Amino acid sequence: MARYTGADCRLCRREGLKLFLKGTRCNTAKCGLAKRAYAPGQHGQGGKRRQNLSNYGMQLREKQKVKRTYGVLEKQFRRYFDIASKSKGVTGKILLQLLERRLDNVVYNAGFATSRDHARQIVRHGHVYVNQVRVNIPSYSVSADEAIELKGTLKCMEQIRQNIKLTADRGKARWLDIDTEKLSFKVLRLPLKEDISMPIEEQLIVELYSK
Ligand code: SF4
Repeated sequence: MARYTGADCRLCRREGLKLFLKGTRCNTAKCGLAKRAYAPGQHGQGGKRRQNLSNYGMQLREKQKVKRTYGVLEKQFRRYFDIASKSKGVTGKILLQLLERRLDNVVYNAGFATSRDHARQIVRHGHVYVNQVRVNIPSYSVSADEAIELKGTLKCMEQIRQNIKLTADRGKARWLDIDTEKLSFKVLRLPLKEDISMPIEEQLIVELYSK
């Protein structure tokens, strides 16, 4: 599956916000945004471009921010939007729910990985079982009542236990019932916008794609 392979910190600097793409480094003084709190590129230090954004510019930036946070490329993001717009309910909220339900995101939110990128790797390497069936597709959409368990070699599981310690300070998803001893969790309910800690104006994304 195609994915962004450029410098992660540039993405945060472009959005002017921590997207937490590099795991534990994001909470240290080494954070790229902490060191250079301006947009990348020749005109980045001016800082005026972000303030003078047009309506379209704001919609575009919001879409890019969400897309980059979840590590989803344009085509797939658009597909999520199309599904959301055809579903019953508020399109923007359903879009966010679809993104939150991704298996890689759920593993990250459970605190078993330090970043979504890392969680994606754990899924791809076949360490994740949903209702006792191995699932190695990061975009797999979890449903309520599903039981998810991580299994693998002793070394891999030790690494995951280490991740749990490293992410202990991070707020865990309230819609998951997490058992850090058994390296498993259950999906209690589908996620809501209120469960997402990052400030997102999803209406801007709906407006962008509805033009
Ligand atoms: Fe973003 Fe993390 Fe890089 Fe900081 S360290 S700029 S939060 S990816």
